[in-house]
Amino acid sequence: MDRVVIVGGGVLGIMHAVEARRLGHRVVHLEREPGARGASVRNFGLVWVSGRAPGPELALALRARNRWEELAAAVPAAGFRANGSLTLATGDAELQLLKEAAELPDAAQRGYELLDPQAAARDLNPELGGSFAGALLCRRDAAVEPRQVPGAFRDHLLAGGTGQAPAASGTARAGYSWLPGREALEVAPHAVRDHTGTWHHGDLVVLCTGAAHTGVAGQHLAGCERQPVRRVRLQMLQTRPLPGRLTTSIADGDSLRYYPAFDLPGRDRLPPQQPAAAAAAAQLLLVQRLDGSLTIGDTHAYDEPFAFDVDEDAYDHLRGRAEELLGSRLPPTQRRWAGVYSQVTTSELYHRSAVAPGVVLVTGPGGRGMTCAPAIAAETFA
Ligand SMILES: Cc1cc2nc3c(=O)[nH]c(=O)nc-3n(C[C@H](O)[C@H](O)[C@H](O)COP(=O)(O)OP(=O)(O)OC[C@H]3O[C@@H](n4cnc5c(N)ncnc54)[C@H](O)[C@@H]3O)c2cc1C
Repeated sequence: MDRVVIVGGGVLGIMHAVEARRLGHRVVHLEREPGARGASVRNFGLVWVSGRAPGPELALALRARNRWEELAAAVPAAGFRANGSLTLATGDAELQLLKEAAELPDAAQRGYELLDPQAAARDLNPELGGSFAGALLCRRDAAVEPRQVPGAFRDHLLAGGTGQAPAASGTARAGYSWLPGREALEVAPHAVRDHTGTWHHGDLVVLCTGAAHTGVAGQHLAGCERQPVRRVRLQMLQTRPLPGRLTTSIADGDSLRYYPAFDLPGRDRLPPQQPAAAAAAAQLLLVQRLDGSLTIGDTHAYDEPFAFDVDEDAYDHLRGRAEELLGSRLPPTQRRWAGVYSQVTTSELYHRSAVAPGVVLVTGPGGRGMTCAPAIAAETFA
């Protein structure tokens, strides 16, 4: 293989570009917007190992997490830090479930450790001044800066980098072409046509078109026996900078309801969710950005058509939960937004299918896409 065409400038597209360059292929990279605007820049930037299902999902996440760490050495602007996470239990039932998780056979692979509130708050993350019953530390969790990731890797590739070491010279520059403002409309064997009418030919064309299920991938998806992917909409917010420094990312006990790692006997004993959380299928995840601000989410809507506006009740709930756990007032909200991801409806971890000879569609990683993108890209080329 020599030439690879990639459609979509989100994290899956850029990680395929990085992997292709690492393998020595020339890359042409198309994106319909001026830059990434989809789920990849709207997410928490969590490289999240802790909640993954045992087996293949955990293995994929761990491979990806290791790759993120390697890539960070070459692309420091991605903001990778191995900061770990704390999942905080607020009652006995949540605490019992955390204890079950801490005893999983793969707990050591995840870097799980059960902490009492004192240890979690005083020793590990002194900003946690609120009330909670205990915490599950996941040492393998990490974070990146989602708004910076696509641009940081593009700059690296444009400077001749291949994801392995800081770009040293411009000699390999011809190996990567970034074509923003080009919408792919049609595929043919080993080729894709953009809206200007230009055909881009490659030994391999990879469509990383995210949650655009009716675009260039739409005809193929509609032809599948059963719709292999669905769309999920999430609400998020970002505060102004917090004066203190959170040493880990934070999750509340509601996250135990959603992540497959916690599908353990104790889950059935969890009390009902608070009504505002249940109405929005909410969990609290909180990541401090490098500038000190806090990214806070999230909610889940599964039924389309999605609301075009954001719902304040969900934000009140999430801010309230964060304040309970931190034991202090949050800085004012600076930004609110919603994001949509593509999620497989099968037992696969993501969707990959041949759309035409030499053309593959890779999408549907759902809420693990930022985490797993480097490993998914490696699997495409393997
Ligand atoms: C609010 C939110 C929070 C999340 N938090 C996390 C998290 O913390 N950790 C985690 O692991 N995952 C998280 N996820 C999931 C993760 O963000 C996604 O799985 C991942 O970003 C998907 O990447 P992508 O490249 O497939 O899609 P996208 O980022 O949507 O990129 C697709 C790109 O393709 C372009 N495109 C589409 N059609 C065409 C076309 N025809 N021609 C040219 N370009 C086209 C789009 O413009 C877009 O830029 C979250 C998702 C959301 C929405």
